[in-house]
Amino acid sequence: MPVDPLPVLQSTFGFPGFRGVQADVVHRVLAGENTLAVMPTGAGKSLCYQLPSVALEGTCVVVSPLIALMHDQLRAASAIGIRAATLTSVDIDQMETIKRFRRGELDLLYVAPERASGGAFRDLLSQAKLALFAIDEAHCVSEWGHDFRPDYRLLRPLLDHFPDVPRLALTATADEHTRADILDQLGIPREGMIVAGFDRPNIQYRISPKDNTTRQITDLIAETPGAGIVYVQSRAGTEKMAEALAKTGRPTRAYHAGLDPHVRARNQADFVASEDMVICATVAFGMGIDKPDVRFVAHAGLPKSIEAYYQETGRAGRDGDPAVAHMFWGAEDFAKARQRIGEVEPARQAGERTRLTALGALVETPGCRRRILLKHFGDDAPENCGNCDNCLNPPAAIDATEVARKFLSAVFRTGQSFGIGYIEQVLTGVSSERSLMNGHEALGVFGIAPSAEEQALIKPVARALLLRDALRANDFGGLEFGPGARAILKENETVSLIVPPKRERRTRGRGSS
Ligand code: ADP
Ligand code: ZN
Repeated sequence: MPVDPLPVLQSTFGFPGFRGVQADVVHRVLAGENTLAVMPTGAGKSLCYQLPSVALEGTCVVVSPLIALMHDQLRAASAIGIRAATLTSVDIDQMETIKRFRRGELDLLYVAPERASGGAFRDLLSQAKLALFAIDEAHCVSEWGHDFRPDYRLLRPLLDHFPDVPRLALTATADEHTRADILDQLGIPREGMIVAGFDRPNIQYRISPKDNTTRQITDLIAETPGAGIVYVQSRAGTEKMAEALAKTGRPTRAYHAGLDPHVRARNQADFVASEDMVICATVAFGMGIDKPDVRFVAHAGLPKSIEAYYQETGRAGRDGDPAVAHMFWGAEDFAKARQRIGEVEPARQAGERTRLTALGALVETPGCRRRILLKHFGDDAPENCGNCDNCLNPPAAIDATEVARKFLSAVFRTGQSFGIGYIEQVLTGVSSERSLMNGHEALGVFGIAPSAEEQALIKPVARALLLRDALRANDFGGLEFGPGARAILKENETVSLIVPPKRERRTRGRGSS
């Protein structure tokens, strides 16, 4: 006879009811069935194993990939009276924890996959009663996933050694392929998969090409009160950005793994406590941070994948109030990402390439951003969400194929070694010492884009061609053909551009009429 979870939910956690799929997940776990819960960030995954750990006799072993994450969870669980401990290399009370486990005094025991997969740990687990295996961030088990951790693959023998102990795998970010992989690798039946809706209706998605990112983010801050996170790609970049944004008058902090641990912890604590702070961070920031009132998340560059984007933007608006997610991307981000893919092991390249293409589609679409996100995770979605930049301000799409062809021809005729600015001069027929010396003024492409309409399209076209891998930039910014060039020149592939509607530049102070 399974236990009734409601009294525990109310007495231990103080919540009046379950949220979303929590009830389904908890009921399966209490019935002893193996389960995969795919739930978006903020949906309340931890409760799905914490509650059974209290309700069931025995200890729930939680496999978690990051020590910092485990300690956050430990603190949160202990705060509501759950008997929890972590068993990691930095814990000095390991002997005490082992004793408590043997005496059956632990509801939750957190371990890293490296330890969990070892023989000594298996022997330890044989010495007391187990209630459940919870495998957090379960997408780490999949090579297809974006955070592959080989040690997750070694968990299976441990799980199989205790066939009567139910397993619960949890993840926020798994596309279809990754989900199938998790079920397979951890021995969970298909019908054991429970997927929560991915929509976060209160988050407004916006995506723009970079055009002086610091100024763009300054504008975003000016129109968005409340605390916010700015994701910056490099450690040095986070500090520079924090300094630049301090000029807005809002308190700012930097956060990255290279900071002194005390400074880092203090910056994080300051941010969590503040109502208007802007923290400029690498993607190391965010996991396990429980701050429900983050009002915006900005990406000062392309995120790693749609999964990463969804997870990072998901830190906005957990309280359900309106929040903004604004990404600023550059064509060079795509070029760099493509280069990185060339450097990973061959077996993973196809998956990485598919992921980058999906990200490109999200960035380039003139349609609803939310629809693309939700479809990516297998959710149904309406054509128009009413709360993304493209739905609120539909962009016009224009056919720029002719200009794209002219651009490619100019790149080709000039020998595939010049940058965007020079090609632009050639197309518009701007004479210079350089073009004279190179003899480029005699080329048929010199000055073939004379109209103002065409000229306005040149830079956006160059960006679109880089994004599609029709052009590649070498280390010196010189453009050369990529595999996508041929289809545009020879096979009638069209290049359409979206023209963002002009957003009123915010007028500050006096002077607006
Ligand atoms: P996730 O791990 O899925 O990102 P968390 O487990 O951190 O989410 O939970 C997110 C927030 O939701 C936490 O503040 C948690 O206390 C709260 N929460 C979880 N379950 C419920 C519930 N049933 N009712 C109200 N709040 C809940
Ligand atoms: Zn939309």
